[in-house]
Amino acid sequence: MHIETDPKLDFKDVLIRPKRSTLASRKDVDIAREFTFKWSGRKFKGVPIIAANMDGVGTFDMAKAFEKDGNGLTVALHKHYALEDLEAYYTKNGPDNVWYSIGLVKDDQDKLLKFIKGKAGKKLDKVCIDVANGYSQNFVDFIKKIRDKVGKDITIMAGNVVTGEMVEELILSGVDVVKVGIGPGSVCTTRRMTGVGYPQLSATIECADAAHGLGGLICADGGCTVPGDIAKAFGGGADFVMLGGMLSGHDQAEQRVIEKDGEKFVQFYGMSSDTAMKKHKGGVAEYRASEGKTVHVPYKGDVAVTLQDVLGGIRSACTYVGAKRLKELSKRTTFIRVNQQLNTVYGDR
Ligand code: 5GP
Repeated sequence: MHIETDPKLDFKDVLIRPKRSTLASRKDVDIAREFTFKWSGRKFKGVPIIAANMDGVGTFDMAKAFEKDGNGLTVALHKHYALEDLEAYYTKNGPDNVWYSIGLVKDDQDKLLKFIKGKAGKKLDKVCIDVANGYSQNFVDFIKKIRDKVGKDITIMAGNVVTGEMVEELILSGVDVVKVGIGPGSVCTTRRMTGVGYPQLSATIECADAAHGLGGLICADGGCTVPGDIAKAFGGGADFVMLGGMLSGHDQAEQRVIEKDGEKFVQFYGMSSDTAMKKHKGGVAEYRASEGKTVHVPYKGDVAVTLQDVLGGIRSACTYVGAKRLKELSKRTTFIRVNQQLNTVYGDR
């Protein structure tokens, strides 16, 4: 047994220290990033925020909303769309705003291979390989196999892991973007069920460092509850940030709005929750027994309103530290450890 006594930090443990700046207004800040992916060689330009591949978040409607928004945010499509629906989407819409997601299950692989051979196959440019535990050799072998099948020029994002050595292994196995986060998610119960996890800000800082050393990228996945958390993730070195809960409950959820006592809600659940398992039957077998919860989130209307908030918050964070571009945010970030970051006298919103 071994104990690490170095403090590991979550978003709630820090604030970003303001710095003297010549930026006059947040309008002067460019929050798009440009990347060339290590293995695929493809280029990305846009705001590096990704909607999680979850029911109610990683939807076609969300992708269309992002396309309309025009800032280049992307959506990891959830894994449960039928092949025909995926083909119809890709044939009609550009692939720029979407990642095609798969898990370890054979059905996902078969569907992907059919998709590649089908009428929209040529449009495929980005794949997200998503498992709850990215530490198994099985997963590493799977990535190599998928890289062989999809070809050299497809961008692969894969995870999830939380430590530098595994980030390196995944990048060396052909991953362009490593997804980082075990247990921070809003509807995740992994830490409760297993005791396993890693505070998300420290995971982001350490994994970004490991990835950047090899020319790879990371996506900080899970745990952002307010725009300030996203700014902290970027400040900690995340290249992309993935959002589930913050993008749930909108018109784009492709789900029913429920009315309870005159208030509107939308159901939101973890992809390994009982709800997801029941809905998709065998479809989520790769996730271990129920490590996700089901909640009702307040109905939030069009995601465009939330996006404005999120993007405004990040722009503003950049002005506070004098970062003219999002790219400069991590270089200009000094985190200060705090015991309290919000004044909650009138509630925590
Ligand atoms: P959020 O932004 O809601 O805090 O986190 C979203 C992330 O939670 C997803 O991208 C995914 O990595 C993770 N997640 C989604 N569903 C589940 C689940 O059922 N169990 C676990 N352990 N994690 C989940």
